Amino acid sequence: MDAGAAGNLAAIRERIARAQDRFGAPPERVELVAVSKTFPADAIAPFLAAGQRVFGENRVQEAKDKWPGLRAGYPDITLHLIGPLQTNKAREAVALFDVIETVDRDKLAGVLAAEMVRAGRRLPCFVQVNIGLEAQKAGIAPAETVAFVQRCRDVHGLDIVGLMCIPPDGVPPGPYFAHLATLARDAGVSGLSMGMSGDFEVGIAMGATHVRVGSALFGTRPKDVPADRQDI
Ligand SMILES: *Cc1c(COP(=O)(O)O)cnc(C)c1O
Repeated sequence: MDAGAAGNLAAIRERIARAQDRFGAPPERVELVAVSKTFPADAIAPFLAAGQRVFGENRVQEAKDKWPGLRAGYPDITLHLIGPLQTNKAREAVALFDVIETVDRDKLAGVLAAEMVRAGRRLPCFVQVNIGLEAQKAGIAPAETVAFVQRCRDVHGLDIVGLMCIPPDGVPPGPYFAHLATLARDAGVSGLSMGMSGDFEVGIAMGATHVRVGSALFGTRPKDVPADRQDI
């Protein structure tokens, strides 16, 4: 895995740079979030050794098991929460993560804000948008996004830096990413977390600032956890 980690990382970074070139994104604009869910600390360590510092996890408990130990060796890690968050896990999430990508309802926004004040940690957050209005996916409806971002900022006091989405499976993602970019512009946020292993170049073409890449870096997940069922 060790040689594989460095090689996979270099290959994905190269593809990101080529997509940025092709679509005119400034060099510093696209952040690679390496999605390490389901992979043990042993499988993550070679990516840290190869220089990767930004990671994504979808479950609070799993992050709690894996990351404090890894952080001990690498204090400059940035860990993104990319899975649905229950309000009763908000306190732990605020302690464990550096960026929350899945703010999607007022109750959660309020609880997160209170926990951030309590912990003295004002974390950058993304609002997750259910861009395909799919019943099984989390996220605020597109039509409610602009008002929700405003409430997150003005009512709850959260630091909303962008929007995040997981487009529907099996159809071209481009139009969904373009829609997310429009919503971000309307909401006055610059961050766009969109694009995974199969479509991050499309995300970059549509203005992604963050791509969340799992299997293309780490390999096939032990059990295939679909991106829309982050609770299993
Ligand atoms: C698992 C997951 C990813 C990574 O998916 P890959 O297809 O393995 O790159 C990205 N975003 C979210 C929200 C996920 O749950």
